[in-house]
Amino acid sequence: MQEINKNQIIGINITKVYGNKKKNEAEIVALDNVSFSINKGELVVILGPSGAGKSTLINILGGMENSTSGKYYFFGDDVSEKNEKELADFRKNKIGFIFQFYNLIQSLNAYENVYLAASLLSSSLDSNQILDLVGLKDRKKNFPSQLSGGEQQRVAIARALVKNPDLLLADEPTGALDSKTGSQILDLLYKITKENNKTVIIVTHNKAISVIADRIIMVSDGKIIENITVSNPKKPQDIEW
Ligand code: ADP
Repeated sequence: MQEINKNQIIGINITKVYGNKKKNEAEIVALDNVSFSINKGELVVILGPSGAGKSTLINILGGMENSTSGKYYFFGDDVSEKNEKELADFRKNKIGFIFQFYNLIQSLNAYENVYLAASLLSSSLDSNQILDLVGLKDRKKNFPSQLSGGEQQRVAIARALVKNPDLLLADEPTGALDSKTGSQILDLLYKITKENNKTVIIVTHNKAISVIADRIIMVSDGKIIENITVSNPKKPQDIEW
């Protein structure tokens, strides 16, 4: 097994198999010896076609499920050995999630959606300040149905950020947006990485997005086919959609 770097934010070398042969189920190797490390402060794009294993990988990185074998270290902490309760604490305290379809609570306004996430933690950031940061100073009292897709995604980013997590995981964050709004959302994620020193992982099938990454990890058929460190990434406004 390849050596795992335990000192960085992420050091991982895992395999994930769905289905149990003993129960006569077909085995599907969703991730096959997937190994990489990520430095704090990197903007990473995990790129691959449908079925490549991206969702499985993001679920494992976020502590939503565990690998079948191998190790996952988060700042040296062995996540692969955590039980359900410990994984729940890991998700709550360490990870901010951003989804393609925002996953906001429709009966709560923008402020309340963010504040609800903040209230789950003893040390969270100020919901008002975070909504200002994502550009929603004047929209805090609006409900999701009164906001555009881009604005709803900003609320979702604020909800992830208010927890002050070490890692932001964004699953196709621009998948439901037009290209102009999409590049504004990517610009926000870019600024969060560079100005707020967060580590951001964007998972997507859209190759155009990968040009903004400090690191591009390409996945195909459950394997990493390329892991490229980019010395001169582009700015989100320069993406050619
Ligand atoms: P992607 O997100 O890149 O589309 P996935 O991680 O969803 O890829 O899927 C990778 C492979 O694992 C696919 O063959 C998929 O059918 C399989 N898979 C994903 N989740 C499950 C599951 N819960 N049970 C069985 N197979 C699964």
